[in-house]
Amino acid sequence: MERKLPAHYRVNDETDICLCPVCLRQYRETNSYLITRINREQTKERCDFCNYRFGYDYRIRSKQRLRYFVKGAEIRA
Ligand SMILES: [Zn+2]
Repeated sequence: MERKLPAHYRVNDETDICLCPVCLRQYRETNSYLITRINREQTKERCDFCNYRFGYDYRIRSKQRLRYFVKGAEIRA
């Protein structure tokens, strides 16, 4: 079962987005994305998702898209 994100926040390929811990969890709970922190030196910035709390930049990659590129390979988050 996939938990749905608001349509304009779904990622079909790959994107960089600033996420607070709460919104980061929403992405993780969909189990549809690989999520990596991209700038460990960064100070906290306003979250692009809720535009309220503060967090860090993450790279969000669609697992579906990755499977397309790596045929037959099993990918775990
Ligand atoms: Zn947020």
